[in-house]
Amino acid sequence: MVGAGTAGCALAARLTEDPSVHVLLVDAGPPGRGRCISTPAGFPALLGSGLDWRDATEPQEYLNGRRLAWPRGKVLGGSGSLSAMIHLHGCRADYNAWCKLGNPGWGFDDLAELWTDPPPSSHAIEPNKLTEVFLDACKSCGIVPYKDFKGPEEEGAGIYPTARMNGERWTAVFAFLTPALKRGNLTVWTGVQAARVVTENGRATGVEYLLKGSLQQVRAEHEVILCAGAVGSAQLLLLSGIGPAQDLEQLGIPVISPLSGVGANLQDHPAVSLRWTCPQPVSLDGTATWRNVAEHRLRKRGPLASNLIEGGAFLKSGSAAPACDLEILFAPLYSLERGLNAPAAHHGFTLLAALLTPASRGRVTLRSANPRDLPRVDPRYLTAPEDKELLARAAERARAIVAAPPFAPYRGEGASSRDADEIEEKTVSLHHAAGTCRMGMSEDCVTDASLRVRGIEGLRVADASIMPALPRSHPNATVMVIAEKAARLIRGS
Ligand SMILES: Cc1cc2nc3c(=O)[nH]c(=O)nc-3n(C[C@H](O)[C@H](O)[C@H](O)COP(=O)(O)OP(=O)(O)OC[C@H]3O[C@@H](n4cnc5c(N)ncnc54)[C@H](O)[C@@H]3O)c2cc1C
Repeated sequence: MVGAGTAGCALAARLTEDPSVHVLLVDAGPPGRGRCISTPAGFPALLGSGLDWRDATEPQEYLNGRRLAWPRGKVLGGSGSLSAMIHLHGCRADYNAWCKLGNPGWGFDDLAELWTDPPPSSHAIEPNKLTEVFLDACKSCGIVPYKDFKGPEEEGAGIYPTARMNGERWTAVFAFLTPALKRGNLTVWTGVQAARVVTENGRATGVEYLLKGSLQQVRAEHEVILCAGAVGSAQLLLLSGIGPAQDLEQLGIPVISPLSGVGANLQDHPAVSLRWTCPQPVSLDGTATWRNVAEHRLRKRGPLASNLIEGGAFLKSGSAAPACDLEILFAPLYSLERGLNAPAAHHGFTLLAALLTPASRGRVTLRSANPRDLPRVDPRYLTAPEDKELLARAAERARAIVAAPPFAPYRGEGASSRDADEIEEKTVSLHHAAGTCRMGMSEDCVTDASLRVRGIEGLRVADASIMPALPRSHPNATVMVIAEKAARLIRGS
């Protein structure tokens, strides 16, 4: 198996429950047991670090030519080790739509028993004062507080459920990999980058990998499974000669299977980032001062126990929508970039006004045949004109929340009126990459409903890349479900 991220950890653990199965799981990143990973407020410090592949998008035509940072984890736990830890299930409409696209067994009811949630936390979340103000303001705008955080299924606002355990980050490493490592039939290699899938006569027989600069091969007795994420799995198929024939030929890669859909259908949730200063010194100070560190280490509380994006609201852009298509995320701090490193320049708060059903589709392609080169990531944000219109509506809903009376004592300077090029200048990524090896029946689908790569024996993909469309939610919990489903498909149960 390639990739020990959210999907890889979960799938490897499930498969090795059978003592007769032996799994080798390789990841390019290190084990990564640092404080920045376990400390919820530490995640911004990980972005752009050595635990991130440090990708950026191609210049985005409809975002004033900006390149957006495109972090993805290069560490055990993958992007789940760098994430903002929001843990939410998707909604009925999303998975039923997957099913209708020719993927029997992937409907909402089929997947219902496969969700994994973090253990109930003994440390209640203590939201920042400004997050409470945000929730009061939502109420004044008629957005009801969730009794039980339902997410996209119905409109409402609340404190996000998060993936935490004892005040620290909970990932697929803790939930799945660590317990499974006690078994003798799971081997994990870190610091090993797969370079391509080796095929013989239309069958995947192993993986070629880079170790300390040299190429080596390992043979698979049974199957090769790619769990390298929405960018990594597409990149590996392309490097292996599985992808659009013309593109591969141009790079001098022999075509093994001319699958036009590999790398296509790239999706992400875009969000407009709106921020305000706060005249009162109440915003979250997530810096690693001795007091904050001590409070977190000893009591698992305080600002460092916050995942920074504490509260949110799910909304419908119109009453006819089958489920929510807009989300407003709230962070009680002025700058999400600084993390533990330095105090923000101002007290303040940030709202991310997100579109959950983007129609725009992008692509992952290769820059060269060299596996050391990062691939080209072009999400083509807002190429579908309706995405811009819906993002603008989300931004207006966010502004209305901040204009509501509860915010009056806390609202300083900020995005209270719309700038002409606000969408182009302030749209950012929620880092929810998916869809580049999508499953389905049509010609341009890469995998079938059993996650087998079309036209190649003994090769599957099981990660965020197989999603035909992004769920209207935060995807990490869904990726765990994909791994659970993959385990059942592989075991034939
Ligand atoms: C900054 C950030 C914040 C996020 N916040 C949230 C959130 O709050 N809630 C949420 O639900 N989702 C969030 N996400 C998204 C979520 O983390 C991903 O959807 C999920 O981790 C995808 O799982 P995956 O297994 O498909 O890929 P990943 O978890 O990315 O795992 C892929 C693994 O494959 C490895 N790999 C890739 N290529 C190779 C290769 N050639 N050889 C060897 N190894 C390779 C990588 O090193 C990595 O470990 C966030 C993502 C990011 C980046």
